[in-house]
Amino acid sequence: MSDKKRPMLDELKKGPWPSFVKQMEKQAETSEMAEDALNLLEQSYNDKVVHWKHGGIVGVRGYGGGVIGRYCDMPEEFPNVKEFHTFRVNQPAGWFYTSDALRSLADVWEKHGSGLTNFHGATGDVVLLGAPTEHLQSCFDDLSANGWDLGGSGSDLRTPSCCVGPARCSSACFDTLDLCHNLTNQFQNELHRPMWPYKFKIKISGCANDCVSSIARADMSIIGTWRDVIGIDQDAVKDYAANGLEIQELVVDKCPTDACTFDAEQMTFNVDDENCVRCMHCINKMPKALQIGKDRGATILLGGKATLVQSAFLSWVIVPFMKLEKEDDYVELKDLLDKMWEWWDENGKVRERIGELIYRKGMRTFLKEVGLKPQPQMVKHPRANPYFFWWPEELAKEKGEGDALGEAAAGKEIKNG
Ligand code: SF4
Ligand code: SF4
Repeated sequence: MSDKKRPMLDELKKGPWPSFVKQMEKQAETSEMAEDALNLLEQSYNDKVVHWKHGGIVGVRGYGGGVIGRYCDMPEEFPNVKEFHTFRVNQPAGWFYTSDALRSLADVWEKHGSGLTNFHGATGDVVLLGAPTEHLQSCFDDLSANGWDLGGSGSDLRTPSCCVGPARCSSACFDTLDLCHNLTNQFQNELHRPMWPYKFKIKISGCANDCVSSIARADMSIIGTWRDVIGIDQDAVKDYAANGLEIQELVVDKCPTDACTFDAEQMTFNVDDENCVRCMHCINKMPKALQIGKDRGATILLGGKATLVQSAFLSWVIVPFMKLEKEDDYVELKDLLDKMWEWWDENGKVRERIGELIYRKGMRTFLKEVGLKPQPQMVKHPRANPYFFWWPEELAKEKGEGDALGEAAAGKEIKNG
C-alpha cells in the first residue's frame, strides 16, 4: 500500500462501527486496483463529485446482463481503475455457502479483479467490484467452471432472492428456498437476456415479517401467510405472563385490527381469526405460545419499487392466497408471471416498472388483461380506498339489465360501492 495521505477517508475509520475504508485498505496491501479505488474516493470527497462514469457496453458471451460497466473519468491520474466493472454473481437461495464455495469465489476474484467484494448487493447477488475489460470473459469462464453463474442486471429479471425460510425459521409458511431456486432455474433466459422495458425483481419472504423487504423493493413480492387459525399454547402464554411480559400492553394493544384479547384473570390469550390480518406481531412477541396456522401459502403482491419514473411504491395485493407447497403449485405462479410480463412488455414505456404501468393504465385494466378476478383484499390502503371499478357491461349484467345498458354505459367508469 502506498503512503498516500487520505484525510477524508481517515474520518470514516473513526467510531465504533466496522469501516469499509479499513477493509479496503487491507485489500490495498496486495491490490493496486483497491489502492487506486481508495485514492479515487478521496478525490471524489474533495471534489464533491463522483468520478465513476456509469455505462458502456461490457459483458460476456451469450449474456446480456450480469456485468455492469464502470469507467473512471480520470484514467491518467488513476490508471489502475480506469476500467472497474462490476460482476453480479447469483447467490444461493437464502445465502447459504460452504466455506469451500466461498474460497473458490475468492480465488477467482483475486486472479481476475480487485479482490473487493460486497456481500450482498441490494438485489441479493454477490457483488464483485472492479474488473478490467480484458478479464471479463476469463473471469466469467472461471466462475462457471467453479459452479457459479451471473445474476441479472439491466432490463431483465433480476436475481430472485428469498429469506432463510424453513432452514432456520419457524415462521416460514412455505419453502422460500425451494421456490427461489426453482424460479431462478425456470427463468434463466429472462435473467440473462435483457428484453423488457426495465428491471423486474422477485423477492420471497416466508411470512409477514418480510425479512427481505419484498414489499418495498420487489416488483413481485411473495409473502407467506395462512388461511386457518393461529395455534395457541395457553400454558406457554401463562409462562410469558408469569415471567413478566406485559401481554395486554405489548401484544394486545399493538394488534393492528384489535383481533386478539388477553384475560388477565384466567391468563388466557385468544385470537379472533376472522379479523386477524396475519401481521405476525403477537407471534413475534410470544413465539413459544403462538404459532402460524397450518393451512399455509403466500400472498402475491405487485408493484413495489424505489423512486424513479414515479415515486416509491409499496406493492399491492393481487392474489390474496396461493398454495406453494410443491412444484405443481408453482405452475400457477409461473403462468401468472408470464402473463404479466407479456402485458408489461407490450404496454410499458422505456424504464417504466410494472407498478408504474398499472398506475398509468389502471388496476382494472391490468386485472382484466392477466385474467385475475377482483377481490376484496385488493385495496391500496388497508380497509380504505377501494380502487377497483366495475366494467360497465359487468355492472349491467350484475343488475340483470342486459347488454343495452352495458353498451349505453360503455366508456364511463362506475365506482364499485
Ligand atoms: Fe422467518 Fe418470516 Fe423472516 Fe422469513 S420473513 S426469515 S419466515 S421471520
Ligand atoms: Fe393481531 Fe397480528 Fe396477532 Fe393477527 S397476527 S392477532 S393481526 S397481532
